[in-house]
Amino acid sequence: MHGHDLSPATLAVSAGRPDRVPGGPLNAPITMASALVPGGGSEYGRAGNPTWDSFEAVLGALEGGRALAFSSGVAASGALFDLVPAKSIVVAPRHAYYGTIEQLVERNRRDQIDLRLVDIHDTQQVLAALEGAALVWIESPTNPALEVADIETIARAAAEAGAVVAVDNTFATPLRQRPLDLGADFVVHSASKLLAGHSDLILGAVVTNDDRAFTAIEKRRSVLGAIPGAMETWLATRGVRTLHVRLERAEANARELHERLSAAPQVTRSRYPGFGTMIAFEVEGGAAVAQKMTEQSEIITYATSLGGVESTWERRRRHAGEPESVPEGLIRFSVGIEDVDDLWADIQNVLAACS
Ligand SMILES: *Cc1c(COP(=O)(O)O)cnc(C)c1O
Repeated sequence: MHGHDLSPATLAVSAGRPDRVPGGPLNAPITMASALVPGGGSEYGRAGNPTWDSFEAVLGALEGGRALAFSSGVAASGALFDLVPAKSIVVAPRHAYYGTIEQLVERNRRDQIDLRLVDIHDTQQVLAALEGAALVWIESPTNPALEVADIETIARAAAEAGAVVAVDNTFATPLRQRPLDLGADFVVHSASKLLAGHSDLILGAVVTNDDRAFTAIEKRRSVLGAIPGAMETWLATRGVRTLHVRLERAEANARELHERLSAAPQVTRSRYPGFGTMIAFEVEGGAAVAQKMTEQSEIITYATSLGGVESTWERRRRHAGEPESVPEGLIRFSVGIEDVDDLWADIQNVLAACS
């Protein structure tokens, strides 16, 4: 029907809709069902649900693969880790999301895998760690240090070394980075963040082009029961419909605020990878000032998580699980879609009051 590939904006709006039938809904309904009539795909609600299908179709279209929704981002990564053969070498970023690292460290401690942590932005270091590896886990940009990996170079070398590559694409979203096109085998998402975009649900996903791996991961999801709720997938699909618009606005805000923060005398360092909605910055006075600032802002909400329409920030090291290589005073700032001057006024107020 189409003479050219549809743009991500069009896919975000149009993919995963029900067939157009007279009197039928434009959006996939929320199907609350533990059992489904035999003869279709799934018969039991732990194996499939039409509301999941809709979310999986739009995410798959955006990433260029086939998607499987999970109960959370960590359930999605956990299902993938479960498929790594026993005693395999796994290469992963030192600064990956701490829930990811927690899973890998625990498997390492139990001798299930042999974990090699690397600085993922240091491509030579990553390549040097590939020998004998079964899985290379990439997160880019990383949470919270915002390091960027050279996915294409790592994926090429990993393929030669016989390792599969999975990319946590939560921070970039498929609108800024399509890992499968860059040679990765799997994409993993915390859809709780930018994809759903409203800080109102927990949801994860795995995307792949490999049909055998798809079937194995789908089976793992069902065996573990790590399945999403119909309500969550429905809300996430609605969130994805505006992803491109939210991202554009939040990204413009983030770029502007990073520039203003970089020029502010109280700010010692502001990190921004050049795309996306996340900033990580440090202030004069370190942890104490950072903690006070984040608690006192009025428009920017003091909260964990990220990727919502509302701006949130927190000092990451207030969480015990965050690695010590993340500076004590580092503030992870998830930039929302509010007016940029209102956000800046809020930041200036707390900088003046707390420094
Ligand atoms: C939040 C997050 C996760 C974990 O996802 P949940 O949906 O909270 O389980 C994984 N990776 C990144 C980069 C995240 O920010």
